[in-house]
Amino acid sequence: MNFTDTHTHLYSESFDEDQDVMIQRAIDAGVNRFFIPAIDSEYTERMYALEKNYPDHMFLMAGLHPTHVKENYEEELAHVEAQFAARDFYAVGEIGIDLYWDKSTLEIQRDAFKRQIQLAKKYKKPIVIHCREAFDEVFEVLESEKGDDLFGIFHCFSGTKEQAEQAINYNMKLGIGGVATFKNGKIDQFLAEIPLSHIVLETDAPYLSPVPYRGKRNESSYVVLVAEKLATIYQKPLDEIAAITTSNADEVFFTKRA
Ligand SMILES: [Zn+2]
Repeated sequence: MNFTDTHTHLYSESFDEDQDVMIQRAIDAGVNRFFIPAIDSEYTERMYALEKNYPDHMFLMAGLHPTHVKENYEEELAHVEAQFAARDFYAVGEIGIDLYWDKSTLEIQRDAFKRQIQLAKKYKKPIVIHCREAFDEVFEVLESEKGDDLFGIFHCFSGTKEQAEQAINYNMKLGIGGVATFKNGKIDQFLAEIPLSHIVLETDAPYLSPVPYRGKRNESSYVVLVAEKLATIYQKPLDEIAAITTSNADEVFFTKRA
């Protein structure tokens, strides 16, 4: 069985002690492709090092994370643009709006989000969306940018069934991770009504560990626990969950767009 972790911060300082062992543990569990979202320019070198060490397994994104949109965001956006001008990436991410950590930066978060969507369109790449306490604001931007050239993943999807359908209407797959295993996670209540063709697996490691590791450091091998939860929700064998979610990830990241 092969699994794809569509969202994992393997370059995080949380893995400094045991990065290679942790990555090998995931590969041994069948998780052999890792899509790596960016945060800001501070982490760029760490991401490139990861790719150099595991060229067959690592798939890098470039982008500016909404909680890192600060006074210097013009410089940070210039860095993202320079990266795309210099080489290929698999997506623009993670990008979006986060009003949980800081509401005062909403205007510049919105500006950064829109401009990075336009960058994705220029290079015909998917976007990977981070949305926290900002569904209305994110959907407003997606509405203004919608079209065949807008597509990607709504990472760590945590909304209602209606919001899930709305995201799907904007050509977004839903990134499902540890939250689906939480007792109060809520999405497990309606997920079975969302066709599996719209779902991709993720961990968001080192954050949001699935049960039974909730509250502890997350790692990519745990994507199998998320897949097992989906097998229960969808009443399908695990190998089918693995195959479908892997092919959904391929569709997002590898489909050549005209
Ligand atoms: Zn993330």
